[in-house]
Amino acid sequence: MNAPEKVPLTSPEPHVMATYGRLPVALSHGDGCWLYDVDGKRYLDGLGGIAVNTLGHNHPKFVPALQEQVARMIHSSNYYLVPLQEQLAAKLCELSGLSKVFFCNSGLEANEAALKIARKFGHDRGIERPEIIVYEAAFHGRSIATLSATGNPKVQAGFGPLVEGFVRVPLNDVAAIERAAVERPNIVAVFLEVIQGEGGIRPTTVEYLRAVRRVCDERGWLLMLDEVQCGMGRTGKWFAHQWAGIVPDVMPLAKGLGSGVPIGALVCGPKAADVFGPGNHGTTFGGNPLAMRAGVETLRIMEEDGLLENAARIGAEIIDGLRQGLDGVAGVVDIRGQGLMIGVELDRPCGALLGQAAEAGLMISVTADRVVRLLPPLVMTSAEARQLLEILLPLIRGFLQDARTA
Ligand SMILES: *Cc1c(COP(=O)(O)O)cnc(C)c1O
Repeated sequence: MNAPEKVPLTSPEPHVMATYGRLPVALSHGDGCWLYDVDGKRYLDGLGGIAVNTLGHNHPKFVPALQEQVARMIHSSNYYLVPLQEQLAAKLCELSGLSKVFFCNSGLEANEAALKIARKFGHDRGIERPEIIVYEAAFHGRSIATLSATGNPKVQAGFGPLVEGFVRVPLNDVAAIERAAVERPNIVAVFLEVIQGEGGIRPTTVEYLRAVRRVCDERGWLLMLDEVQCGMGRTGKWFAHQWAGIVPDVMPLAKGLGSGVPIGALVCGPKAADVFGPGNHGTTFGGNPLAMRAGVETLRIMEEDGLLENAARIGAEIIDGLRQGLDGVAGVVDIRGQGLMIGVELDRPCGALLGQAAEAGLMISVTADRVVRLLPPLVMTSAEARQLLEILLPLIRGFLQDARTA
């Protein structure tokens, strides 16, 4: 769903499957919030590898730690104890108030584990056909189960039959979830993003999250919050749900947790932490020492360098700048976000802005067809935020102008 509408069709990669509409830019290296392509052109990173590069690129504390780890050990096996797993798990529990963690390699894997836990949680209670509440416009990944939970027909098209056992409701509609509770006796869990990312930076309200927590408590359901994109400090708190003062039962993480090293984690509270026993779930790569070290160091550096505060402050500066710079511009529908998870919704498809921004030296994303999305590294400075606005604002204004006069 991130593909720009117009993809350059000359393929410099004839042996790579065409699953992405890629821009014809080959990046060579990066430093902080700056990227350099193979021709030496410089780009400001407003995308962070899709919310992955928490510490930006070539971070002076992160790189030596990973180099040391690579020399020491990259992978062992889950046949044996992996002390770094316990270290990272303990830290994630401390930050979230939850109690146990399962490690994997990606967002969809963390979500897949969450869905399996919800089903087994139901079976353990004698519910043979457990159902899970999911949301319109949600995105949870591209495995068969997670694309079935996803609320985007484009992600599902061509891959039926979908996995059953999902009940779909609209976001921020308490009555819909209470209705489902009455009509569907087999519901065991509610599964949602605190801020929908691929769906267009669409936040759940604080009131809604609290209401869902209450319904889950009343019904004995699991509250499962997909924080794969909005978690890991991006909104200015460790996890986006913490703005609502609630605690979930199950929380999938991935993207920003390893600052670029593939990693996923399923963090569970007491209701869910002991649902899986030996043999119920596993992964060969998950929890390997390199990924665990990346997670441990990412969290350590985020704390040392005050990156939560930075995300909140720089995010507010960017949102202010966007509001001022686009004030009264026809075609701008909404500017929203929290911390460094920001969306500018336009009144028309704007995938073309991706290439225009790259040409102008800025990496961004366009999602849900009409939403310009910013997910920069959490190390972005005020000066870089101003540069980002200086490039992006005229591009958006020009794009809307051209589209009207064309
Ligand atoms: C990106 C994303 C996923 C999928 O993560 P992958 O690592 O690409 O499998 C799942 N949920 C949310 C909210 C995401 O943003």
